[in-house]
Amino acid sequence: MIARTDACPADETGVLRLGNATGLTCRECGNTVPLGPFYACDQCFGPLEVGYDFPRLTRADIEAGPKNIWRYAALLPVPQDIASRPTTEPGYTRLIRADGLAAELGMRRLWIKDDSGNPTHSFKDRVVAVALAAATEMGFKVLACPSTGNLANAVAAAAARAGIRSVVMVPANLEEQKILTTAVYGGTFVTVDGNYDDVNRLASELAGEHEDWAFVNVNVRPYYAEGSKTLGFEIAEQLGWRLPDQIVVPVASGAQLVKIDKGFTELTELGLVDGKPWKVFGAQASGCAPVSDAFAKGWDVVRPVKPDTIAKSLAIGNPADGPYVLDVVRRTGGAVADVSDAEVVDSMRLLARSQGVFGETAGGVTVGVLRKLLADGQLDPDAETVIINSGDGLKTLDAVASSVTVPAAIKPTIEEFEQFHG
Ligand SMILES: *Cc1c(COP(=O)(O)O)cnc(C)c1O
Ligand SMILES: [Zn+2]
Repeated sequence: MIARTDACPADETGVLRLGNATGLTCRECGNTVPLGPFYACDQCFGPLEVGYDFPRLTRADIEAGPKNIWRYAALLPVPQDIASRPTTEPGYTRLIRADGLAAELGMRRLWIKDDSGNPTHSFKDRVVAVALAAATEMGFKVLACPSTGNLANAVAAAAARAGIRSVVMVPANLEEQKILTTAVYGGTFVTVDGNYDDVNRLASELAGEHEDWAFVNVNVRPYYAEGSKTLGFEIAEQLGWRLPDQIVVPVASGAQLVKIDKGFTELTELGLVDGKPWKVFGAQASGCAPVSDAFAKGWDVVRPVKPDTIAKSLAIGNPADGPYVLDVVRRTGGAVADVSDAEVVDSMRLLARSQGVFGETAGGVTVGVLRKLLADGQLDPDAETVIINSGDGLKTLDAVASSVTVPAAIKPTIEEFEQFHG
């Protein structure tokens, strides 16, 4: 990879500073390179991950921070004054005690981390905010991405807030709600005749052509991925600085799941929570289940598939972090499972009916896998469990449109009310 020192604002020693981050380390061979817009190891092409030298940090230090992800700025690869810059300020979403859903499923203690409460209504605002902060320090002026939908929303909004250009690419067959909620922010918006993996390939080619564009999930992916640690940090803090016994996470590229586990590990190492075991479970839709498939077959590698599912936000057939998901779930004693589209819709409705939370298809996948793994006996109904609702049902209305009944209008009279609804 070519060093782009020209684009990197450096201090007097010529070193890019990103908070307490110290460099990028290859997840395969351990080779370390300086911070910069690098994502693949120059020795073995393995993915790079941010390393840190964390300061001593107390719960009180974090609790004194803003009610968004920047309260954890010391644990992220971002400038430490990030909270005073123009960002979408994602995070610190609700952790809901889900007694209604727990009762339906025969569970004792269940929580929903409801990330539909983010600025563009999905967890992607977290990863984009961190990618943008790092990219800005590296001198990038354009924020770009290939997306399955939610990332497009988050990039377009974050760039608009920061006053820079966005270039966003999505498969043309995306949900109309996600198309509109991207277009409204302005920026360059490209719909592509192809699936996500086609769009991703195009983005990789463009990233080679436009070295001054920060593709959040390509050339600045190591920083982007770190944003998902904040889900783990918040869950622990909102549980009163405790870790749950079990967590169920939706899997597209797999980065979210891997980084939640990393977040739990870092909190433990920093002494911010008491050490204890936790189990991580991954959720996929059967129409795009390459990681679940590899888990079931006992493989270490993930064989790419062609996605065909209503859970479009999870429709990545060749997931970059798939092998690392397998590592995490096997190390912690979890599992990866998948559910059919019919079960996704049924689970979206169960979540809404029992708990008053309208999650998107990815939420239906997660609840569906929760049910399946409880039935299989792989999840313990008596253990404290957290599930992630990563997006908003308003963005995937078509998924439920044909299965909910919209009543015919009545005349505004008592008689008609009694006749039809009494
Ligand atoms: C992108 C996305 C995910 C999965 O994220 P990965 O880190 O790619 O696994 C889950 N849920 C929703 C709603 C998403 O948009
Ligand atoms: Zn390497």
